[in-house]
Amino acid sequence: MSQSMIWTRVDYEKDGKQNGWLQLPHSVTRSAYGNVSIPLTVIKNGKGPTAFLMAGNHGDEYEGQVALCKLIQALEPHHIQGRVIIIPAINLPAAMAGVRVSPIDQGNLNRSFPGDPNGTATYAIAHYIDTVLYPMADIHHDLHSGGSSLQYLPFASMRQSQDAALNARATSALKAFGAPIGLIWAYSPDSRLSSVAAVNRNLVALGGEFGGGGSVTSSGVRIVEQGLKNLLAHAGIIEASRAVGPYAGPSRLMEIKSRDYYVYAPEAGLFEPAVELGDMVRRGDVCGKVYFVDNPGRAPEPCYFEGDGMVICKRHFGRVERGDCVVHLATDVA
Ligand code: CA
Repeated sequence: MSQSMIWTRVDYEKDGKQNGWLQLPHSVTRSAYGNVSIPLTVIKNGKGPTAFLMAGNHGDEYEGQVALCKLIQALEPHHIQGRVIIIPAINLPAAMAGVRVSPIDQGNLNRSFPGDPNGTATYAIAHYIDTVLYPMADIHHDLHSGGSSLQYLPFASMRQSQDAALNARATSALKAFGAPIGLIWAYSPDSRLSSVAAVNRNLVALGGEFGGGGSVTSSGVRIVEQGLKNLLAHAGIIEASRAVGPYAGPSRLMEIKSRDYYVYAPEAGLFEPAVELGDMVRRGDVCGKVYFVDNPGRAPEPCYFEGDGMVICKRHFGRVERGDCVVHLATDVA
């Protein structure tokens, strides 16, 4: 397996606080020997566990990016025992453009794991995370939101694996994070996610969706800020007395178990949802209707829920194409 071409002058083993960059070689007309400089902060104090915190996996998901900038400003080596690695904009080209995928290669970082050191920029970033950063970490959080096209009720999450012991450790970290909802992804239709790669590395790896609609919600940022303190205290990296705050659980534990939790637009048009975030629905209920403003005499096309549950996510944009996810559900863990 070839090595990553990504390099850094930050020393992961050095005590203290270093603000530096991961340098991803990117040779283009305006800069033959240039790099994409992805900001990286390493804070270390002696021996102890390592937490690896990242956001900006999708560039238009902002609460985690804000919360990690604030953590970089606030956290000092004397606050911790061990090491905290913080990358607030891991897919920097996407984050700077405020879009989901990288404008360099149209790469969706969270569909690019385990990556490729010789692939395009986004695959090279995924490969560096998987082969360099994940092996260094004991605990990981990849902070997401609904991005431009979705809105979420904020939750922290974990991905269920085949490993019962790892699931137990991750569930305990999820409860410690203490978000109002703690969600378990028990259904995994895609193996290219960061969370799948992290679980394959036997890593306690949390995720979460803390807002959406291309905006920054202050309530979502607060949940992330408090949750990260709770998580660092849970890992033994900061004192529990530094983690005092409004969100300490207990989280409402929910899960997503199958394709039937999702509803997709049946036609292209203008979608009127019949539900809002937080609504409880039953299988067979109308989820919404697609209207045809270019042919208003045509009857609207309804779509229906395939299962019971709570609306935890809905589409933000009004216009839909056939196959767009318009709503998805979660159910309480029995
Ligand atoms: Ca995302």
